[in-house]
Amino acid sequence: MNEQNIFIVRCGEVALKGMNKPYFERMLAERIRKNLSEFEGTEVQRHEGLIYVRADKKFEKEKLIRQISRVFGVASISPAVEAESDLDAIGEEAVKYMKELIETKGIKTFKVEAKRADKNFPVKSPDIARIIGAKVLIGCKVLKVDVHNPDVHLFVDLRHDKSYIYQQKIAGFGGLPLGTNGKGMVLLSGGIDSPVAAWMMAKRGMLIEAVHFHSYPYTSQRAQEKVEELARIVASYCGNFKMHVINLLPVQEQIVQHCPEEETTILVRRFMMRIAEKIAEKNKAMMLITGENLGQVASQTAEALVVTDASVSMPVMRPLIAMDKVDIMEKAEEIGTFETSILPYEDCCTVFLPKHPTTKPKLERIEASESRLDVEGLVSAAVDSEEIVFIRQN
Ligand code: ATP
Ligand code: MG
Repeated sequence: MNEQNIFIVRCGEVALKGMNKPYFERMLAERIRKNLSEFEGTEVQRHEGLIYVRADKKFEKEKLIRQISRVFGVASISPAVEAESDLDAIGEEAVKYMKELIETKGIKTFKVEAKRADKNFPVKSPDIARIIGAKVLIGCKVLKVDVHNPDVHLFVDLRHDKSYIYQQKIAGFGGLPLGTNGKGMVLLSGGIDSPVAAWMMAKRGMLIEAVHFHSYPYTSQRAQEKVEELARIVASYCGNFKMHVINLLPVQEQIVQHCPEEETTILVRRFMMRIAEKIAEKNKAMMLITGENLGQVASQTAEALVVTDASVSMPVMRPLIAMDKVDIMEKAEEIGTFETSILPYEDCCTVFLPKHPTTKPKLERIEASESRLDVEGLVSAAVDSEEIVFIRQN
C-alpha cells in the first residue's frame, strides 16, 4: 500500500488568516511544490486545513523533510502512514508501524493519542485510542503501555476518507508563505548580520532581491564569491533571486577626496542607501532591508541611523535592530550562514575606514559635505554600472 512516503504538513500562522485563509494555503502548497520540484512525481495536496505530500519511496525521507521544513509558513511536518478509516485497518497499519520502530529504535513503551476529525465516526477519540492500543499490544508482544513517559506517542488522526498514523512532529520555521508580502531589496554584505536580516523578512512572506557593493580592486574576487555563497544559502529558503553587484569605489574616492575623513563611513552608507533605493524602484521592491543593529558599531548609533535614514524616502526595514549580537550569531548558525559569514575576506566598508568615525553625525553637516559632491551623478553612474548575478539555491 505505502509505495509512497507521506508527510502531513501543518500550516502555522496561515491558519489564522480568516477570509484569506484559502489564498495563504494555496500559496503555501505552491511553495512546497516548488521546493520539491527535484523530486519528480511528488504530489502536494491541500485537504481540510492540512497539506499532504506524497513522494516516491525511492527519495530520501530526510532530504524531503529538510526541503519541506525550509518553506516559510510550515509549522510542523509528520512522516505518516495512511490507512482506511476503519478501526481494523488502522490497527493493522499501527502494528506494522510499531514493529518497524521496535526493530529500528528498540522502543519498549507507547501511548496512543487519537483524534477524530470526522465527528460522524461512531467511536469517540478515547475509545479509538483504547481499541488501537489493545490491537498494538496483541500484535507487538514486547510493547507495554506507559501513559506518563512513553518511548513513542502513537498519534492516530481519524478522518472521513483516510486516516493517518504518525509519531513525530518536526518543527518548521513558521512564518508566512513567500510572495504574500511584497518584495524587499536587501543590502547584502559578506557579514553575519545582513543574511539573517534577509532571512527574517523572507520568513514574513517577503520576496527578496539583493544589492551588494564591492570596491574592486581593493576588495578581491574571492570576497564576492563569498557573498554569492551566502546568497545561495539564503536562496535555499527564499528561492532564486537577482543580486545587483555594484562597484562603490568611484563614490568612495570622491568622498575621500572632498569630505572630512571622520564622516567617510556615514557618507558611504548614505550613498549605499540611495543606490539601493534606485535599484529597488527599478525592480519593484517596496522596501530596503539592512542588517543594522542599534549601537553595534559607530555607523549604527541612534544618531547615525537617523542620518542614514534621511538619505532615502523608501522605508528601511532593520529586523535585527534590537537583537543582541550573540542572538544574531545563533540565528546565523541555525539557518546555516554563520560558517560562510566568518570567512575572513575584506568588505568595501573597511577599505577607507576612518581612524575616528563620527558617532553622532549632524544631518546639516553631512549635507554640507555632500554639497561638494555630484550626488545624483554618482548615484546614477553607480546604478548604470550594475552587474547582475543570478543566485540559484544550493
Ligand atoms: P553585516 O554583518 O551584515 O556585514 P555589519 O555589522 O558588518 O553588518 P556594517 O558593515 O555597518 O555592519 O553594515 C550595516 C549594513 O549595511 C549591513 O548589515 C548591510 O545591510 C549593509 N552593508 C554593509 N556593507 C555592505 C556591502 N558591501 N554591500 C551591501 N550592503 C552592505
Ligand atoms: Mg559588514
